[in-house]
Amino acid sequence: SGEWGKVETLLKDFEEKCATPVGKLKQVADAMTVDMHAGLASEGGSKLKMLISYVDNLPTGDEEGLFYALDLGGTNFRVMRVQLGGRERRIVKHEVKEVSIPQNVMAGSSSEVLFDFIATALAEFVATEGDDFHLPPGRQRELGFTFSFPVKQLSIASGTLIKWTKGFSIEDVVGQDVVGELAKAMERAGLDVRVAALVNDTVGTLAGGRYNNPDVIAAVILGTGTNAAYVERAHAIPKWHGLLPKSGEMVINMEWGNFCSSHLPVTEYDQNLDVESLNPGEQIYEKMISGMYLGEILRRVLCRMAEEASLFSDYVPSKLKIPFILRTPDMAAMHHDESADLKVVGNKLKDILEVPNSTLKMRKIVVELCDVITSRGARLSAAGIVGILKKLGRDTLKDGEKQRSVIAVDGALFERYTKFRNCLEETMKELLGDAADSIVIELSNDGSGVGAALLAASHSQYT
Ligand code: ADP
Ligand code: MG
Repeated sequence: SGEWGKVETLLKDFEEKCATPVGKLKQVADAMTVDMHAGLASEGGSKLKMLISYVDNLPTGDEEGLFYALDLGGTNFRVMRVQLGGRERRIVKHEVKEVSIPQNVMAGSSSEVLFDFIATALAEFVATEGDDFHLPPGRQRELGFTFSFPVKQLSIASGTLIKWTKGFSIEDVVGQDVVGELAKAMERAGLDVRVAALVNDTVGTLAGGRYNNPDVIAAVILGTGTNAAYVERAHAIPKWHGLLPKSGEMVINMEWGNFCSSHLPVTEYDQNLDVESLNPGEQIYEKMISGMYLGEILRRVLCRMAEEASLFSDYVPSKLKIPFILRTPDMAAMHHDESADLKVVGNKLKDILEVPNSTLKMRKIVVELCDVITSRGARLSAAGIVGILKKLGRDTLKDGEKQRSVIAVDGALFERYTKFRNCLEETMKELLGDAADSIVIELSNDGSGVGAALLAASHSQYT
């Protein structure tokens, strides 16, 4: 029909606006490096907050004892206990329980409701501790709290929430010390546990990654949201006025999700998504990359194509108008569909959008859109990682040096969206050339939870 030409025009136009040629990615990487410097120079000096974590020592391998961890930062929240066996026995035992957070707790509730929910889940979990976990008599249980939102840390075990991201919105927590709030809720729940460390998931992943591999220098989260942390030289942090740590190092939580640059290929779909989001004007880089948003970008493009170019013939699925109805895991399943008739795509269109009889031509457009959106996200993530490597002077090969740089990556987007992951890895090679041989991107499955437990161990009141 005459309309199909319009579908192809919209697709081509979208593709062009999303383009990330190497030259552009290098500009993005350079802008990231520049903003890192600015964020380290002064408080509020950059869109990148470059938060000081108070972690100036990463795990050594000697950590020992029973420690708990809490991981709050996405749709699920996890409680965990780890029995650490020291240098020889490493992680002796490790148990995790995942609890999903009700929508009405995540947004619009109160600090008390949120932290009571968390403390109650933790209390139930502690009650199931078996005989294979050992707490020396007379000792208090200790916990690492992974809290994956921007926090102004006041010490290793306290910090105030700067703002919510990723669909969370509970007004009265902003500005509060989240450890204090958790401690009060634990007391209400009759639970005697000390919070020994408050860490961002990036910092936890870095700690967990380092425990397994001494070459780990940075960590990246690619899950519901995206963020990164890395090890900085303490004297390269002008805004730090405290004592220089003995190690000479400090872990920095970049909060890179809030990165923004005129070099980012922002389309009108991204702009509309942003304006209608819970946090307009914020987390622009995150909104182009992470799992919470990729499916939603796809929905917006499909909606426009259905309305203006009859993508699904005369039928405009009303489901397509519901924000966030297309989730990134469904998008990945369609993108990975290898069948000749794109059966998976057809089924998803039917089940989620109630498009009963999609043609192969329609399904191919959907797959093409998945590819455009996901490639852009993966390539922009790679550019961000290169920005960190540049800041550290690790983006080029040095004569005679055999320096390896390992980036620990956690998050289901990277772990399960194979095409995203492959594209990210390919792009690293495009950007770094031969130097890519010395860079390793390593999956650190659930590293952030174990990392928080390890940091609780190194900041225990008993050591
Ligand atoms: P969080 O980031 O919340 O700590 P995860 O690392 O498990 O948790 O990431 C969850 C996010 O990853 C989901 O919001 C979803 O967008 C994305 N995701 C989960 N499974 C897949 C998948 N199979 N393919 C693509 N993305 C996925
Ligand atoms: Mg996580």
